[in-house]
Amino acid sequence: MDNCIFCKIANGEIPSATLYEDNEFRVILDLGPASKGHALILPKAHAADIYELPEETAGKAMILAKHMAEKMKDALKCDGFNIVQNNGEIAGQTVFHFHMHLIPRYKGDQVGLTWKPGKLSDEERDEILAKIK
Ligand code: 5GP
Ligand code: ZN
Repeated sequence: MDNCIFCKIANGEIPSATLYEDNEFRVILDLGPASKGHALILPKAHAADIYELPEETAGKAMILAKHMAEKMKDALKCDGFNIVQNNGEIAGQTVFHFHMHLIPRYKGDQVGLTWKPGKLSDEERDEILAKIK
């Protein structure tokens, strides 16, 4: 992808604060962090989102997220950890190259990743089960 900023960062064309790199991934610090240590896992091969991402890359990305979470927890002494991955504008995606957010959480931080719980009706439950299961 010629015009994709995360392709350029992931492949080292644009410099970034890199926490980890291998043949398939780069993990960088987010330039607009939600909290101290907020990082992004970028696959080097372009995929716009979870739908385009090859299964094998998806599996490896999750394993890498686990390793990074362990390392970052030890290093940053955070109290919790969110792993977030947005697909589509309505879901908050702003860069259309798949990435996973690694967000360390600290007691008393003001990071807002919550929602107001609704209520699952019987009709909706049945409708969804009929469509997906
Ligand atoms: P999204 O909203 O697509 O899930 O996440 C995009 C993330 O990329 C945001 O958290 C934003 O701060 C970060 N970001 C956007 N452009 C750059 C950049 O050029 N460098 C880095 N390191 N982060 C970026
Ligand atoms: Zn890309």
